[in-house]
Amino acid sequence: MYPSQAKELVINWHITEVCNYRCQYCYAKWEKQDTELIHDNGKIRRLLESVYQYFNESKATNGFAFDSLRLNLAGGEPLLYPSKALRVIELAHQLGFKTSIISNGSRLNEPLMQALAPYISVLGISLDSAEVKSNQEIGRADRHGRVVNIGKLAEMLEAGRRHNPSLQLKMNTVVNAINWREDMSRTIADFAPDKWKIFRMLPTVTDALSTSADEFGAFVQRHRSLGKVIQVEDNADMTESYIMIDPHGRFFQNAEGKKGYQYSQPILAVGAEVAFSQVAWSSEKFCARYSHEQGSAA
Ligand code: SF4
Repeated sequence: MYPSQAKELVINWHITEVCNYRCQYCYAKWEKQDTELIHDNGKIRRLLESVYQYFNESKATNGFAFDSLRLNLAGGEPLLYPSKALRVIELAHQLGFKTSIISNGSRLNEPLMQALAPYISVLGISLDSAEVKSNQEIGRADRHGRVVNIGKLAEMLEAGRRHNPSLQLKMNTVVNAINWREDMSRTIADFAPDKWKIFRMLPTVTDALSTSADEFGAFVQRHRSLGKVIQVEDNADMTESYIMIDPHGRFFQNAEGKKGYQYSQPILAVGAEVAFSQVAWSSEKFCARYSHEQGSAA
C-alpha cells in the first residue's frame, strides 16, 4: 500500500563512501563495484533521469501523491567533493528535483555556503557530541585527531541562513555507547535547528558502540525540554523506511535482522523501476516517519 498524500518524497543518494572521519559504527560501507558514479557526469545525469522519471510516473500508477521529489545527497562525506556535489545539485534541479545535503560539517566554509545554500531546501548536519574527547573516542575525527569545531560550525550555519533565509536546518545525532550520557541541550538550542533527529545506533554494518534501549531512552528523556524539534528514531523505525541509492547507483536497504545491506541491480543497467522492485521498502514505515516530519526539515 502506498501513502495517499505526502508533501515530499525523499530519495537519499549516498554519492561517495569516502569520509575524512572514522566513526566506529560507520554505516557507509557498501560492497565495492566500479568507480563511484560521482566522477562521471554522463552517468550522473542518466541515473537522475531514470530515478526522476520512475518516481514521478509511479505517482500516477500507484496513487501515491506527493508535491515534489527531493534528492538528498549523503555519504560518506559528500562535501569532500564540493564541485561534484554542486554539479549533482545543478543537474537534479534541471530535472525538477528539490535538493538537500547531509554533511558532518567539517568542510563547510563561507564560499561553499554561498554556492550551496541558495540551491538546497534542507541542510543536514550530523553531530554526535559537542565534546572533543567523545568525538575522538567515537572516531568522529580525522587522521590527525581533529574534530568538528562547534564555534565555526555555528558560524557556517548562520552563513547558510543568510544566503538562503528559507533554508531548513536538520541535525542528526546517533546515540551510542560513548555519548548516551551526554547532555547536548545547550548546543542544540544554540544551533536552533528546525528538526533534531535522534537515532539509536543501528548495528547494520557493525555492533561497535551499540547501545541499549534503556540508554537510548535515557538520552531522549534528558532532552525532552527541547520539545517538538526532536524526532526520535529507534532501530525498527529506520529499517525499510528510507529510499537509498549507493555510490555505485544501486538501491539498497537495511536488511532486517541481518548484517549488511540488500542491493538491487545497478539502476543504469536495469532502470529505476526494475531496480526499485528488487529492494524492500515499507510505505507504512515511510508514512509513519513522514507524518512526524511533515511541515519540517526531513
Ligand atoms: S561522519 Fe558519517 S560517513 Fe563519516 S565516518 Fe562518521 S558515520 Fe561514516
